[in-house]
Amino acid sequence: MDIQKLVKPNIRSLRAYHAEEVPCKVKLDANESPYSAISNQRPAISLEINLQTLNRYPDPQATALRKLMAKGLKVKPENILHGNGSDELIYYMITTFGGPVMYPVPTFSMYGIISQALDEKKIEIPLDKDFDIDIEKTITAIKKYRPKLIFLSSPNNPTGNCFSPERILRIIKATSFSKQHKGDSRIAPTSSLVIVDEAYQSFSNEKSFIPFLDKYKNLIILKTLSKIGLAGLRLGFLIANEDIVHEVNKVRLPFNVNSLSQAVAIEALKNKKQMHSYIASIISERKRLFSMMKKIEGITPYRSDANFILFKVPNADKVYYGLLKKGVLLRDLTGVIGNCLRVTVGTPAENTVFLRTLKQLI
Ligand code: PMP
Repeated sequence: MDIQKLVKPNIRSLRAYHAEEVPCKVKLDANESPYSAISNQRPAISLEINLQTLNRYPDPQATALRKLMAKGLKVKPENILHGNGSDELIYYMITTFGGPVMYPVPTFSMYGIISQALDEKKIEIPLDKDFDIDIEKTITAIKKYRPKLIFLSSPNNPTGNCFSPERILRIIKATSFSKQHKGDSRIAPTSSLVIVDEAYQSFSNEKSFIPFLDKYKNLIILKTLSKIGLAGLRLGFLIANEDIVHEVNKVRLPFNVNSLSQAVAIEALKNKKQMHSYIASIISERKRLFSMMKKIEGITPYRSDANFILFKVPNADKVYYGLLKKGVLLRDLTGVIGNCLRVTVGTPAENTVFLRTLKQLI
């Protein structure tokens, strides 16, 4: 039996997201935090309670967790939707609103993969030479294609920079339906929803777009706990006006975030001080890595507002495999940006091993 013949054409030509476990000593490939945001002792009490109630389904609304997030983000719990990672929320948004789906490239590959999986049209606009949004091309394309959804990852993965906030705002304003339909909260068919994906915002000097939610009803913010020490929990959050949350919630699987993730996240979020000190250490290590990499002849690191650094290196393939042979795993981006690799900021010791090995290879 030829399974291929049964598969929908858009899935047949789809390539799965590249995520595999490669054995290594120093894992700097997946933009995870090198530190767990919760220690072994802390969750013991609450986990014990939850283990006794594992015969029950989790709280489908993640009530306590959403309440805690809402307090931290200064929004209402009704403005928050929880996802099994922000990946899942991207899936839900494209399922709910459909395409065309627009995003600059290169960017986080799941915007394109999910669009294709759901058979929605993708519109990819190349970034400018500074890896910023090409605003004129974007505005022209918005007018031409009338995208339903525009994804802007800022800081952007894999380039590491924030997009200029003025350009992001121009896109939000240009597509804002509140302007076209004053006082009408319904989504007009010709407007776009703009998703500012703030997965890496904690590592950046730029401010969150959350304060703009009141003014621009077509704005959606995505957050995740994955980059700040809890990738294993799989927890992401969509923050938007209530109408949007209400619609996207219709396609959410009822028990998408399990009880253990909810319980551990609540414990971890209560200890913000610890989280912030890890973030501060990652930012300071990113600065050290960047300045050390700049000193290595032949290497061009790009300025980063995230917990990783993209860099150009001649013979990137050779360098990638050379590092891997020594136990240091990076992300090979040669297929996306010529001769580029991406290194996640690790612990000071891991970064030192990476720098030393890189110098030896060059
Ligand atoms: N958005 C961006 C920009 C990312 O880089 C990632 C992870 N690589 C995600 C979203 C997904 O994060 P998660 O599903 O772990 O919350």
